[in-house]
Amino acid sequence: MKSKFDREILDQLLPYASEVSISDGDLVRLHANELPWRNEAVMWSLRDSILDIPSNRYPEVTNSELRSKIAEYIGYKNENVLVGNGSDEIIDTIGKAFIEPLDKVLIPSPTFSLYSAITRVYSGVPIIIPLTSEYMLHMEKLLSEAKNAKIAIICSPNNPTGVLYPEDEIKALLDTGILVVLDEAYGEFSGYTGLPLINEYDNLIVMKTFSKAFGLAGFRTGYCVGSKTVIESMSKVILPYNLNMISTKTIEFAIDHADFMNEAVKRIIENRGYLFREMEKIKEVKLVPSKTNFILFEVENPRKIYEELIKRGILIRYFEGKKYLRVSVGTYENCVKFISDLKEILNVR
Ligand code: PMP
Repeated sequence: MKSKFDREILDQLLPYASEVSISDGDLVRLHANELPWRNEAVMWSLRDSILDIPSNRYPEVTNSELRSKIAEYIGYKNENVLVGNGSDEIIDTIGKAFIEPLDKVLIPSPTFSLYSAITRVYSGVPIIIPLTSEYMLHMEKLLSEAKNAKIAIICSPNNPTGVLYPEDEIKALLDTGILVVLDEAYGEFSGYTGLPLINEYDNLIVMKTFSKAFGLAGFRTGYCVGSKTVIESMSKVILPYNLNMISTKTIEFAIDHADFMNEAVKRIIENRGYLFREMEKIKEVKLVPSKTNFILFEVENPRKIYEELIKRGILIRYFEGKKYLRVSVGTYENCVKFISDLKEILNVR
């Protein structure tokens, strides 16, 4: 559908909702890389404080208290942190601040689809650099294209592959002088972060989120860390009052209760190990080793497998026209059910 008011670029875009499978009813949700547990301590703290929220007032315009809290948590200064309504808003703000019409943005592919969509929205040109057959960065191509590009957006560990790229490669890209956006939405599950590189490089933005390891996707809060200069530029275009008071309070509690996140990460890594070992025994699937809370696997006839899993009550992520599927690491029970259903569908014992 098209309205007569559309910008031309809209012909190339689809609503995000048409990409992801929406879960309904009682399906086990293993499609959106969510944490399978709710942070109960945070919910109780929220319950105790919600009546004190001055909801007739606007929230603090630049989220300075939350920024301080995050800055302290990661060991940087307030001026190095910007918070968004999900890291989705951070990606949009990077586009708003830095992409001029026809600017080239390097995007290794496959990766999170929003990077190229946002690049197009701001009339930039996504330069898609396919990953190698082992799902690694194609460094030669990236470095040669970097000469003509303004920005590179690197998701590490990457969605949907789960692969963490070597720090040397990120540094090599940074050394070209272009703006490097390092999306660490799944960083906590990998044990690595590029945050210390911020001290060395003023052309680096690291993005993080509370949606995954902290299990707070419903409160829509993400942030980025960078030099004072890039953060100041982004602050000029990010919407004022972008976080609501409930989310702000919740995230503050979540940082106070970071032990929940650490414990959840530990359990997810255990479950990921179990899922990987069990899937490795099935010769019909080819696995990509994962540093995230999901596993990508190649399989014949992915659409059929996806549909058969839905019939058995499990929703995973299907990608139109691709040879792989992605399954999120859920509770141990979710993993057991997934393995048993997958074996049944593939007719293996
Ligand atoms: N980056 C990546 C790689 C993601 O997979 C996602 C969520 N699907 C996001 C960013 C956005 O996360 P949020 O807006 O919930 O912080």
